[in-house]
Amino acid sequence: MNEFLTSPHLYGLITGFYIIAGLCFIGALAGLSKHETAKQGNILGMVGMALALVATVLLMAQQNQLSTADVPHLGVAVLVVLTMMATGAVIGAWRSRTVEMTGMPELIALLHSFVGLAAVLVGINSYLQHGAGRDTVHDIEVFVGVFIGAVTFTGSIVANLKLSAKMKSAPLTLPGRQLLNLAIVLVSVGLGMWFSLVQNDHGDGIGLLPLLVMTALALVLGFHLVSAIGGGDMPVVVSMLNSYSGWAAAAAGFLLGNDLLIITGALVGSSGAILSYIMCKAMNRSFVSVIAGGFGQASVAADDRDYGEHREIQADAAAELLANASSVVIAPGYGMAVAQAQYPVAELTSKLRAKGVDVRFGIHPVAGRLPGHMNVLLAEAKVPYDIVLEMDEINDDFGETDVVLVIGANDTVNPAAAEDPSSPIAGMPVLEVWNAKDVIVFKRSMAAGYAGVQNPLFFRENTQMLFGDAKDRVGDIVASL
Ligand code: NDP
Repeated sequence: MNEFLTSPHLYGLITGFYIIAGLCFIGALAGLSKHETAKQGNILGMVGMALALVATVLLMAQQNQLSTADVPHLGVAVLVVLTMMATGAVIGAWRSRTVEMTGMPELIALLHSFVGLAAVLVGINSYLQHGAGRDTVHDIEVFVGVFIGAVTFTGSIVANLKLSAKMKSAPLTLPGRQLLNLAIVLVSVGLGMWFSLVQNDHGDGIGLLPLLVMTALALVLGFHLVSAIGGGDMPVVVSMLNSYSGWAAAAAGFLLGNDLLIITGALVGSSGAILSYIMCKAMNRSFVSVIAGGFGQASVAADDRDYGEHREIQADAAAELLANASSVVIAPGYGMAVAQAQYPVAELTSKLRAKGVDVRFGIHPVAGRLPGHMNVLLAEAKVPYDIVLEMDEINDDFGETDVVLVIGANDTVNPAAAEDPSSPIAGMPVLEVWNAKDVIVFKRSMAAGYAGVQNPLFFRENTQMLFGDAKDRVGDIVASL
């Protein structure tokens, strides 16, 4: 056994595992970018992760055997690692089984906070093991890794609290907040120079002080940065934190000399950054303005405009309208997810299609509470992929559509975004459902959507409200049909 663990062939085997795992992760990302291949993508990701875990335990065992220092007995080390892995796996399995689809973004934000915390601990541990001042590159890795990790840690916790409504979603705006952020960054750069350059000269072991002061400042920065961002921009923030957590992991990979962690971190970091960019484009926001925060301030609680009266419709009348339509578009949103209405929606779709009605879905890029939320729900209910279209693919077709069913969507179908420059969501591209002949909006009340903005769609002449839980109301229509 000892011979096996200390043999150079084992190192080759581990490197081979790492390369295959890296390729699996790249394949996973490629697979996840399309509905049709998402399942294979997921499986590739799991295979890659399993290989990575096996290789890492082997690596640890090898390092333990080769180490000349006073290290724990191999059996103890392996037992500790396996116990931690088993504990993590049990908690992970339990959380993933119990989490509601609508609670995914806050869970993801919480998971990012763990990555951030891990990067901080790895960085500080690496300093304590090797000290500062002997190697400037190592010092910079430690410092940058801890900085990104600490910002990610508190930023993700705030995102989690905002998404789970445990903290107000409105932006917290302190006077001079941009200056405060800038000051923290500049002081951190100064501390970084002290940490690496001054230590290089003296090597007197006081490097922990600048490192810990910077950590505290970065924790404040993460909290402050994300607190200043309003709820409407949270999707971008979550994907931005996803990107940060990737870079934090890559920094940890450099510190630990672990190539796979560097590859994985870089993949997560860059894919998160690309996703943030795509979402900013979808919301017509500049990345810088999202990070600078403040969106959604005083969010139109003060909107006392008179929008007129809304009209109501009952399920049987809606069923009649649908039965006589030749084209129907369904615009789902967060309410469909809350009500778990995707199953009756799928049933309604197949009933209408059987009657020869052309039914399609229009998916807004930030509908629901996480990117791809609606696609996942519709796929779960076995709605055919080819009738599920992106916003850009369907927006020009509303003019020729007989009936649009807005099922639990609100901000993503708000005409104020396109027509009212004073609206807090002005400029965000939306599904232009109001151009259809008839619009039926499924929701429980006249309450505003996530961004807290009133929706003039509900008061349009061609709009009728169908109040109640979306699952029940769609079910009623299916029954009437
Ligand atoms: P909204 O969150 O704007 O509105 C959802 C609507 O669903 C509400 O108005 C609510 O009205 C209704 N609703 C809730 N429960 C039910 C139910 N059981 N039955 C029927 N209706 C229900 O939804 P959209 O999907 O249009 O917009 C998403 C918003 O979330 C955007 O502002 C986006 O920026 C934000 N966001 C998106 C993320 C993403 O990545 N996709 C992540 C985080 C935020 P009522 O209470 O009257 O029933």
